[in-house]
Amino acid sequence: MWADLAPIGRDPDSHGYRRSAWTGADADCRTWFQEQAETRGLTYETDRNGNQWAWLGDPTAGDAVVTGSHLDSVPDGGAFDGPLGVVSSFAALDELRARGATFTKPLAITNFGDEEGARFGLACVGSRLTAGKLTREAAYELRDADGVSLPEAMEAAGYDPSTIGADPERLARIGAFVELHVEQGRALDLSGDAVGIASAIWPHGRWRFDFRGEANHAGTTRLVDRRDPMLSYAETVLAARREAELAGAVATFGKIAVEPNGVNAIPSLVRGWLDSRAADQDTLDTVVTAIEKAAREYADRHGIDLDVVRESFTPVVEFEHALRDELGTILREHTGQGRDIPVLGTGAGHDAGILSESIPTAMLFVRNPTGVSHSPAEYAAEDDCLAGVRALADVLEGLACR
Ligand SMILES: [Zn+2]
Repeated sequence: MWADLAPIGRDPDSHGYRRSAWTGADADCRTWFQEQAETRGLTYETDRNGNQWAWLGDPTAGDAVVTGSHLDSVPDGGAFDGPLGVVSSFAALDELRARGATFTKPLAITNFGDEEGARFGLACVGSRLTAGKLTREAAYELRDADGVSLPEAMEAAGYDPSTIGADPERLARIGAFVELHVEQGRALDLSGDAVGIASAIWPHGRWRFDFRGEANHAGTTRLVDRRDPMLSYAETVLAARREAELAGAVATFGKIAVEPNGVNAIPSLVRGWLDSRAADQDTLDTVVTAIEKAAREYADRHGIDLDVVRESFTPVVEFEHALRDELGTILREHTGQGRDIPVLGTGAGHDAGILSESIPTAMLFVRNPTGVSHSPAEYAAEDDCLAGVRALADVLEGLACR
């Protein structure tokens, strides 16, 4: 399965993946999914939002156990983020059949559409629509960089966009959703474990810092006469790093806009975007408040006006404790040989997080030795991937075969 997917959407120069939603590469991944379903005698369907499903047993029976992830990628993404979960789902089913498992509940494998949001700027569109967290009207407004709307892109890919929207009937059939994913950090590498369980997705947000000063000549304006917003911005970047380190959080200024943006001009405006995430709300509030306070002090000192606007915010997602504990118990008995499986938080968003308000969800992580993700350097060792498959099979057996 890994070899089948390897060439799809791969950039020949960077070796990164370009599998944006509703493109040719995405279509090839979808065809592959359908073939995997049909090869195994599973009932294949797409739902009203273009998510793919492969069913073992009666989809309408209720209390289904569902596993899967996504096949799309960020621009120049890695091979594992998403596909590892889908491939592992099919491999886990093969493993359970080889074990002679008897299923007492329906089982489904899914590929959620447009998880990365690389094309339309909003992540997890397929699961958001299904969970009613993105309205049909708002989805119709989404456009890519070329001005193509989401419905136009779906239609061009052969899907009917007229029925997209909340799908509570489908969610009501699901008793548990488990997503396996490559870890996007180094916690498992540091703990020496191949597989871990997710505790929560960290709360995160984006803030825009506008530092306004006075444009002037870089050669003739004396230093003491300057109102240079770049200085306040630079000091704020350092403060963000310091406050994040103190709190055990992360804070990043990764995007900046400068006016007039000339080599020989003192800027009139520096606009920087802060992305910050922490394990809990209080910590995140503390970090962002401290960064803003530092920014104001620096701005005042240099005669700079500062506006801070929160552009987006996603609260903490706690995965259901009962399901998480059940996974821990199952894996402790099988995979861990009596050893506890690490439970870790993550700073990245996932379909499982979106669905967690509607249905019980859980996640398994597979060790990523460098922690690198969203890059061609993303990696997981084959032995660890196989350990992930066995862990997922154990979990599905524990949930769907009793
Ligand atoms: Zn992912």
